Amino acid sequence: MRPFAYQVPGDAAAAVQTVTADPDAAFLAGGTNLVDHLKLGVATPGLLVDVTALTSDEIADNGAGLRIGAAVRNSDLAADPRVRERYPVLAQALLAGASGQLRNMATTGGNLLQRTRCVYFQDVTTPCNKRSPGSGCSALSVPGQRGGGWTRSHAILGASEHCVATHPSDMAVAMAALDARVHVLGPDGDRVVPVTELYRLPGDHPEDDTVLRHGELITAVDLPASPIAARSLYRKVRDRASYAFALVSVAAAVEVEDGVVRDARIAFGGVAHAPWRARRAEEALRGATAADASYRAAADAELADARAVDGLDGGNGFKIPLLRGTLTAVLRELAVEEA
Ligand SMILES: Cc1cc2nc3c(=O)[nH]c(=O)nc-3n(C[C@H](O)[C@H](O)[C@H](O)COP(=O)(O)OP(=O)(O)OC[C@H]3O[C@@H](n4cnc5c(N)ncnc54)[C@H](O)[C@@H]3O)c2cc1C
Ligand code: SF4
Repeated sequence: MRPFAYQVPGDAAAAVQTVTADPDAAFLAGGTNLVDHLKLGVATPGLLVDVTALTSDEIADNGAGLRIGAAVRNSDLAADPRVRERYPVLAQALLAGASGQLRNMATTGGNLLQRTRCVYFQDVTTPCNKRSPGSGCSALSVPGQRGGGWTRSHAILGASEHCVATHPSDMAVAMAALDARVHVLGPDGDRVVPVTELYRLPGDHPEDDTVLRHGELITAVDLPASPIAARSLYRKVRDRASYAFALVSVAAAVEVEDGVVRDARIAFGGVAHAPWRARRAEEALRGATAADASYRAAADAELADARAVDGLDGGNGFKIPLLRGTLTAVLRELAVEEA
């Protein structure tokens, strides 16, 4: 591991100034992702700026929804009675992630900015455009061999010829469905970024996961008031029943009246470089009969551009029918509860 300096500045603005001025500096929160990357050599900052005490660790009801401080731990957020009652999809997504010990350390800001679990990204001996721009993508092309590498967990939506990685956060998928907004402090002041616009698709620059600039600090996340969210569900399909990342996941909320879907919010996880807000599926559902045929049609509308990637492990083509089936099952369950 490369030696690094450690600092706790006096406040959030000083932390932003310090990291902005030093391209070799990084924010440290719970450390559950970043410290692994230090050990693996994936991240090699010369300075870690600890922000856990510089942003709020409280969840405030501001009358129009909830404001979650960036330092709120994942376990505290999942246990909050207001979150459990008003945004159950978020509590479920958090509890589907990692382990109790990790959730006790992991923060809201760090969870949003955790990096992909692509095996090649984490293995510094292999080419990876995200870790080392221009070096190649080991998932898409194995040197000396026709075809790709281990792609079972990779993206089917919005990928590029440079990167097919997925974003690993469960929490972010629920937040995307809930229209959450991220407060960011930069050297020029505050700005607010919807979670659905926080993440980038890989395109030509897979090294950039988000639209944030170096030195910008997440300070809080707002969950807007959302009556539809009270009836919401997160379902994660994974290789093991716990302690595994999503192969596919669905966060959904629906409003059904007289057997007709009036409104829907849907996001997918495990299938793209970003939490995938399924707006085509939502559109297909509005006004449709609350029945399996409508749910499958909504899934097909969203998956029309899905592309599987071949690989040594058989590739990720299984994700397309798996996601269709998972969305159908989630919508069916939500509609039945409403009846
Ligand atoms: C074994 C294991 C299993 C896991 N399983 C899951 C899972 O199933 N689902 C899931 O969603 N997650 C899972 N995780 C990931 C875990 O949720 C993340 O590691 C955690 O949420 C990161 O939060 P942190 O506070 O520890 O961030 P850190 O590791 O401290 O930081 C992560 C990144 O965010 C940046 N950062 C941190 N805070 C801020 C801020 N306020 N503003 C700007 N940048 C910031 C850091 O610089 C760093 O780049 C797993 C992790 C492990 C180790
Ligand atoms: S999929 Fe992305 S993260 Fe994985 S090896 Fe290719 S460029 Fe790197």
